[in-house]
Amino acid sequence: METQPYEPRFAARTQRIQASTIREILKLTQSPGFISFAGGLPAADLFPLERIAEATQHILRDQGAQALQYSTTEGYPPLRAWVAQRLPRTAPEQVQIVSGSQQGLDLIGKVLIDPGARVLVEAPTYLGALSAFNPYEPEYVSLPIDEEGLEPGALEAALQAGAARFLYVMPTFQNPSGRLMGLKRRQALVELARKYRVLIVEDDAYAELYFSGRPLPTLYALDQELGGGNVIYLSTASKTLAPGLRVAWVVGPGPVIQKITHAKQGADLHSPTLNQMLVYELVKEEAWYQGQIQRIRTTYQARCAWMLEALQRHMPKEVGWHTPQGGMFFWLTAPEGLDSLELLRRAVEEKTAFVPGQPFFADGSGKNTLRLSYSSASHEEIEEGIKRLGRAMKRMLVV
Ligand code: PMP
Repeated sequence: METQPYEPRFAARTQRIQASTIREILKLTQSPGFISFAGGLPAADLFPLERIAEATQHILRDQGAQALQYSTTEGYPPLRAWVAQRLPRTAPEQVQIVSGSQQGLDLIGKVLIDPGARVLVEAPTYLGALSAFNPYEPEYVSLPIDEEGLEPGALEAALQAGAARFLYVMPTFQNPSGRLMGLKRRQALVELARKYRVLIVEDDAYAELYFSGRPLPTLYALDQELGGGNVIYLSTASKTLAPGLRVAWVVGPGPVIQKITHAKQGADLHSPTLNQMLVYELVKEEAWYQGQIQRIRTTYQARCAWMLEALQRHMPKEVGWHTPQGGMFFWLTAPEGLDSLELLRRAVEEKTAFVPGQPFFADGSGKNTLRLSYSSASHEEIEEGIKRLGRAMKRMLVV
């Protein structure tokens, strides 16, 4: 249908809600024989189907009316209590259950961003966060990252240059770059937030997915040690149980959470009660839940190692990458001048795909970068897919 007659009727903010070229290209990857590393999909072979079937039956039998009735916007109380109890000095009232952390990001944008307000983001940052914030018309300030993620000196310089509504940051296995921020930087970030009175939005979607070692404290936990009040924390059941459940949580200072609750009321009244109850049924059995997370870690660690071997074997020497210690992604940097959108077109001809890096940069840089996801691929697919990508890459580098 022609879109022309409708264009003048769209709200001005839709200027910043655009379909992407990449989505169009990636539609082709559904065809048979394709090996795609594009989607950031958690491994479906690790969804706890039987456990979910059992728990659903159990909930419907014992609490069916409650599970299917309207409920409170704040979320299912036992799930809120479970989230609160795993975080330092946090009351259940500080927890808002949301329909995916994606909704959390949208609601944060709704309550914190005025048109033209400065929002600090990493370069690169999570593409979905930019899509969530864009309709609220922020002015982004992109902060560079290095091997250890966001560099505190760059943050301080940006804060000295002018006030910002918040810093959006992923300290643990950043999407897309896979970076893990060390303890010193975490402490520095929290100290800067306190000094400049700027809120930090900490997106901790990949927190549980480390391959070895012990998790580092979250920015939220470090801020709590100093008295709290500066960090809004997001995490999700999407990467440990199943993303289709759409259950996640936002935690933060009481007044901010209250505003988010009021905004959520207008958005969807509440997140699906049955799904919240289901997540609670699963996570409350700590031993089972830890076993589930361990299965995911072991599987992703193996898939990551296969991808590393394949990259070493098939990538031209001009291409560099960051080897992750957890999470779901490899982040590649090709020589300056190589356009990864053009590379995607060639890769699609070879029947493989990835996500070009540029859309992850609020400032439009990063043309020569790309993201590969290893979470859902088999050993054979990784070997063959990376071989194809290597071929496409070499074709681009010789011309
Ligand atoms: N934040 C980050 C960093 C993510 O990678 C994702 C999923 N791709 C999300 C948020 C959204 O997750 P969900 O809405 O499923 O909780």
